[in-house]
Amino acid sequence: MLAAPKARWSLVADETPATGGGRTRTEVERPQRQTRAPLIALGGVEKVYRTGKLEYRALRGVDLSIAAGEMVAVVGPSGSGKSTILNMITGIDRPTAGTVTVDGQSLNDMSEEELAVWRGGNVGVIFQFFQLLPTLSALENAVLPLDFIRRGSKRERFERARHNLELVGLEEKVDNLPAELSGGEQQRVAIARSLAADPRLIVGDEPTGNLDTVTAAEMFELLERLNREGKTILFVTHDRELAARAPRMVEIRDGRVVDS
Ligand code: ADP
Repeated sequence: MLAAPKARWSLVADETPATGGGRTRTEVERPQRQTRAPLIALGGVEKVYRTGKLEYRALRGVDLSIAAGEMVAVVGPSGSGKSTILNMITGIDRPTAGTVTVDGQSLNDMSEEELAVWRGGNVGVIFQFFQLLPTLSALENAVLPLDFIRRGSKRERFERARHNLELVGLEEKVDNLPAELSGGEQQRVAIARSLAADPRLIVGDEPTGNLDTVTAAEMFELLERLNREGKTILFVTHDRELAARAPRMVEIRDGRVVDS
C-alpha cells in the first residue's frame, strides 16, 4: 500500500530520514549538527582544473558536514573555491578526489544523466543573475523544473508553480516576463522555481550579489523563512553583514575550509 501523501504544498522538508532513525519536525527546525547523519557530507574533496598544461588546485581537501535544517553562509575571498564547493554539492561538477554525499546519496557514483535528474528533484539552485528564461513568463519559469522531472500532470505543475509564486509574494506578476520585473522580483521567481520540486536543500551562489542592500535583506529574510519552514539553506555571499546573520558561517580560503 502507498504511504499517505504529505500535505500538498508543505514547505517542511520530507521527514523520512535518509539513513535510519526517526526525526520530528521540531528537530528539523532546531538542527543538532553532530547527532545524526548529515544532509551534506564532503570528505577530503579535491578539485583540480586543467587548462592546457596548467593545473589549478581549486579545492585542497575539503571536509564539510551540514545537517538537515541548517542555514549556512559560505564566505571567503574571490577565487577561494566557494562556487566550486557548491558545484560539488549540486553535482554540477565532480571532485577530482574525495567523496560527496547528499541526503544519503553518493554523487560520486552517478552518471551525468542521473545527476541531472537527481538535482532536478532534490536541490533548488539560485544564482546571482537569476538565470530566468527571458521569453517565458514568471509562471512558465517557475514550472520548468517540474517539466524537467515530469512530476504531476500539466495542471498540477502549474498549480504548484502558481502556489510557489504566491509564497514569494508574486501572485500579481505571474504573467510578467523577467524584463518586466525588478531584480528583487526576478530573484523571487528564481526562488519560486527552486521550490518547484519541494527539495529539502536550497543552494544559492551569491543570490543577493546583484541586488541593492534593502532588496538583498528582503531576499535573506525570505530564505530565513524557508529555513524556518524546514528547508536546508546553503548560500555563498560576499556580504559579511548578511553572512553574520546566518546561524552558521563556513569560511573558505585557498581551497580549504578554515572556519566552520
Ligand atoms: P569563488 O567562488 O570563491 O570566487 P571559484 O570556486 O569560482 O571561486 O574558483 C576557484 C578557483 O578555481 C579560481 O581560481 C578559478 O579561477 C578556478 N576555476 C574555477 N572554475 C574553473 C574552470 N572551469 N577551469 C579552470 N579554473 C577554474
